[in-house]
Amino acid sequence: MNARLPLRAETAISVASPLEVMARLRDHFVEHGTVSGTDERWTVAFDIGEAEALACDGHVRFRVAAADPTSLAYLQWGVAEHVCEFAPAEAPEIVWKGGVIPGAPLPYFREMRVLRARQITPRMRRLTLAGRDLDRFSHGGMHVRLLLSPETDVKPVWPVMGKDGRQAWPEGPRPIHRVYTIRRIDIAAGEIDVDFVLHEGNETPGANFAREARPGDVVGMTGPGGGGLREADWYLLAGDETALPAIGRMLEEMPAGKKVVALVEIADHAERQELQTKAELDLRWLSREGRPAGTTKLLADAIRALDFAADASVFVWAGCEHAAAREIRAHLHMERGLPRRNSLIAAYWRHGMAGEVENSD
Ligand SMILES: Cc1cc2nc3c(=O)[nH]c(=O)nc-3n(C[C@H](O)[C@H](O)[C@H](O)COP(=O)(O)OP(=O)(O)OC[C@H]3O[C@@H](n4cnc5c(N)ncnc54)[C@H](O)[C@@H]3O)c2cc1C
Repeated sequence: MNARLPLRAETAISVASPLEVMARLRDHFVEHGTVSGTDERWTVAFDIGEAEALACDGHVRFRVAAADPTSLAYLQWGVAEHVCEFAPAEAPEIVWKGGVIPGAPLPYFREMRVLRARQITPRMRRLTLAGRDLDRFSHGGMHVRLLLSPETDVKPVWPVMGKDGRQAWPEGPRPIHRVYTIRRIDIAAGEIDVDFVLHEGNETPGANFAREARPGDVVGMTGPGGGGLREADWYLLAGDETALPAIGRMLEEMPAGKKVVALVEIADHAERQELQTKAELDLRWLSREGRPAGTTKLLADAIRALDFAADASVFVWAGCEHAAAREIRAHLHMERGLPRRNSLIAAYWRHGMAGEVENSD
């Protein structure tokens, strides 16, 4: 294994058909990393580290290696989760040697405290959250899962490391989780900003948390995660207000000399924000003029109206409502023929549905 990845863990998992499980796992991992080796022994190099699988008599031996505890725990989790998915009937027992001790805090969990709150626009509220040791949250993805109290005045339990490498839950009330973007991170000060859309809808734990948060309130956070931009000559960034924090951060991190077209759907013109960038930016606000979010085709129509060559010169990033994301994917890939590796189109929420959204076509 790669000598520059000092943290290691390994496990031997008994399964009826080691080669079959390994083949399914490799087919899955190939979308996320570079695979080398044979059917009996392969290695996958990911951005966060390396995983190796070796077929043995009646079991598969896995070794994972990473540079930091969060990446190592993600690799352990990924192996365990997918082996259980690909051999569900066997409910394989998984016990890791190395890595975080079972029952210890997850390396990718932090308990955060609300420092302050302020209104950015009428429908966007910024919370500044404080926590310790935030360095790993500054790279390798800008999204986090916030773990929120399930009821007022109930302190939830936090997840810990399970012996199979996945999350385990102590007895007690579990939190509700919602996905948000780290809009700004200051490692030295130990704080992050998260911008919350105060959207329509009943029973909205995420938006309610932002509305009601007071200094000192506690929230759990796991992460970071999520894909980023690939190298390209120019970028098309598109999103509704839930993706505005991500678009704002990507623009701030974009180097000079790049061209960016940004299409941002907002409720009305009062939701416009000042966005900073060194890139050459063509920013277009698409106002719903008060129509509810998730009921218009503004984003897909705006992309359709753009005249551009859908080739390797461009990378298209979009974050928006589920139906809009599907329409944008279909338009880019089926109608325009944009190669799939030149886009990342994510459903950030789904009209009429609470919680996290499945991101499949
Ligand atoms: C990778 C990623 C990053 C994200 N980053 C951010 C971020 O930085 N800021 C942010 O505000 N959101 C962000 N989101 C979206 C956010 O997770 C969802 O909007 C989430 O559903 C909000 O949770 P909630 O508890 O307020 O509402 P839920 O309980 O999930 O939903 C309750 C009801 O409200 C509706 N609803 C949910 N979101 C919206 C919306 N935006 N507009 C209108 N109706 C809605 C639902 O359809 C449902 O009917 C992100 C999502 C993903 C996947």
